[in-house]
Amino acid sequence: MDKTLIRHFSILLLFNLGILQSQPKEKYKIHDENRPQPEVVTHSSFSRMATPPSDAIVLFDGTDLSEWVNSSGSKKTQWKLGDNYFEVRKKTGAIQTVQEFGDVQLHIEWSSPKNIEGEGQGRGNSGVFFMAKPNVSHGYEVQILDSYKNPVYPDGQASAIYGQYPPAYNASAPPGEWQTYDIIFIRPRFDESGKLIRAAYLTVLHNGVLVHYNRELLGPTTHQVRTAYSAHPNRLPIALQDHGNPVRYRNIWVRDLESH
Ligand code: MG
Repeated sequence: MDKTLIRHFSILLLFNLGILQSQPKEKYKIHDENRPQPEVVTHSSFSRMATPPSDAIVLFDGTDLSEWVNSSGSKKTQWKLGDNYFEVRKKTGAIQTVQEFGDVQLHIEWSSPKNIEGEGQGRGNSGVFFMAKPNVSHGYEVQILDSYKNPVYPDGQASAIYGQYPPAYNASAPPGEWQTYDIIFIRPRFDESGKLIRAAYLTVLHNGVLVHYNRELLGPTTHQVRTAYSAHPNRLPIALQDHGNPVRYRNIWVRDLESH
């Protein structure tokens, strides 16, 4: 490659990293309808049914829900176990992992209902919450939504950091198809007095497309209001949201980045 090409490539790379890392903290209101919609990108061959690495903790291998409990953390989940997947059973509440985690690499596969029902935020809505307290009141959510030809406020679409950052691209597959998230979550750090010393960070690949690169979170993700950080334990469960839509999940595994 000649030097001009390399220079052009470097400029392109910097530009793209700029999109992925930009932090328009004050530019847009929460759930701002005027925020630009991410460009649509498709990818037909990605990490579906990726085999867990040897040091991964398998949270669902298709056979049972023993790694999950309801959102009070005490009882068996009532979500429906199907053939190699499980499904949100509405009004039974979120589910959360039995084990607790801090910094992690997570692989999760999901699909929104093939028969489209509802619209906007009512279409295939669920979510992956890191560091969820009981009832998912204070986690950090990567949104799950059927965002295939279903425009919503950009910070609430699939793979958005809910209420904070739209994904850099809309990599959604059609409803009914299995989709993947590969997520690196770095928890916030608090000092002994509970003061924030470092924010939480998320890197997210949606269907193999990088949509957030080391994104600094503004605080816990919440609906309609932005919420400041408040100290919480270093390890908490990962939760999946019951938003009333029968979203399916399969092949979930996590690498504990703080165990080595
Ligand atoms: Mg959600």
